[in-house]
Amino acid sequence: MKICMYSSKAYDEKFFNLNGQHQSAPLESVEISYLSPHLNEDTAYMAQGFEVVCCFVNDNINAKVLQQLKEQGIKLVALRCAGFNNVDLQAAKKLNMPICRVPEYSPYAVAEHACALVLDLNRNIHRAHNRVRENDYSLDGLLGFDLHGKNVGVIGAGKIGQAFIKIMNGFGCNVLVYDPNLESNHNDNSFTQVGFNTLLKESDIISLHCPLTTATHHLINCETISYMKPNVMLINTSRGALVDTSAIIKALKLRKVGYLGIDVYEEESEIFFENLSDTFIEDDVFARLQTFPNVIITGHQAFFTKEALTKIAETTINNIHSYFSGMPENANLVI
Ligand code: NAD
Repeated sequence: MKICMYSSKAYDEKFFNLNGQHQSAPLESVEISYLSPHLNEDTAYMAQGFEVVCCFVNDNINAKVLQQLKEQGIKLVALRCAGFNNVDLQAAKKLNMPICRVPEYSPYAVAEHACALVLDLNRNIHRAHNRVRENDYSLDGLLGFDLHGKNVGVIGAGKIGQAFIKIMNGFGCNVLVYDPNLESNHNDNSFTQVGFNTLLKESDIISLHCPLTTATHHLINCETISYMKPNVMLINTSRGALVDTSAIIKALKLRKVGYLGIDVYEEESEIFFENLSDTFIEDDVFARLQTFPNVIITGHQAFFTKEALTKIAETTINNIHSYFSGMPENANLVI
């Protein structure tokens, strides 16, 4: 089995070599070529001669790319991530190109990272760290607030949202949840199910854990921000385009949004996962975001734990093996 892995890094190679084993699919039966470029219309030709392409969050699996892959004989696109918003599913269906994914690797990794952003922002840990390194032990400007008793709004109560709810419960927060697919007669008393606008109006902290779809694109925009409490904290570890970045910059300038913690950014594909320290950021919107002292940005690292990378490698190899050994029902196919 020849697999062409796009957007790969040294850690992908390490974890696929260490953990991509499965009793029924020993790693010797697969041959992985690790390529650093993203998959897009310019790089699809590199998959010539392979049977599977393995992709990550910033690979662009659009209709043209899928067509090119099909013509080159690719039989399966194996996503090594949970989200599939970067795949044109309609085109894949038309071309009869199966797409599989890793639906769950470690919801705790992402939920804990969202929590880390909350704590860092609230207690100004990033600013305190810089001060202490400069021998400045003054406290002005570092005032935080107790999480205990605060309302935390969770948008999307799937695997990651549920893990995040439990953590926030541990801090003594009141958790409000909006999720259109949640049954209204659930008997989980760790949170209160509310409408979307109620969540916006009543939350001190809002954390996004829903997928990016056409319905959720720019879910956080000028209008929805206007319903929020002044000085609200917004956390996004889900997908960048859930948030209209220009709207959030306006809201930060007006001090309507008091704290912003993001692990994802709508135009992240040219920035994240790369070392750009010898160059400069061309994206003025992103550069503006970086100037706010009450904004914390991490470069799509919420998933990045040993446990998650282990599970990603294992599941991806299992998916590929299951698909080609006549067990597509075990391959975590999206279509
Ligand atoms: P999941 O499918 O288990 O849960 C998503 C939940 O969102 C579901 O319960 C669904 O009903 C709900 N939802 C759908 N539309 C909604 C809407 N309009 N409003 C509110 N809720 C809505 O997915 P998950 O495993 O919890 O992952 C959530 C998201 O986290 C993924 O889609 C992915 O984009 C993101 N993610 C980010 C990272 C990272 O490293 N930053 C890693 C993994 C996943």
